[in-house]
Amino acid sequence: MLTLKCPCCGVMTDETELHAEGEAHLKRFGPGSSDEDFTGYLFQRENPKGIHFERWRHAYGCGKYFHAARCTVTLEVFGTYPAQTLEPPQEIKDAISAKRPGWSWREMSN
Ligand SMILES: [Zn+2]
Repeated sequence: MLTLKCPCCGVMTDETELHAEGEAHLKRFGPGSSDEDFTGYLFQRENPKGIHFERWRHAYGCGKYFHAARCTVTLEVFGTYPAQTLEPPQEIKDAISAKRPGWSWREMSN
């Protein structure tokens, strides 16, 4: 079972208390963007076999949103961090690089 630490209230919680909210760090496109960009924002999602950054909600706890970095193959969790951050904290990126040499972070949205 997947266990994550909510960075908002500090509680270690299993997935039955959480709600998966999809991919983290989506680049949003709104009015004035091209149809291709807007369609991509609405429908295109990463589905990696490996490192993934996800948005979660502590639904049966504090109710707040947060992000988690984990491996979809091994379920190893590299860390969780507040949803208000634009990219993963450096210590999480370093932890991933230590375990997955050659891994690189993609361009992030602003
Ligand atoms: Zn919480």
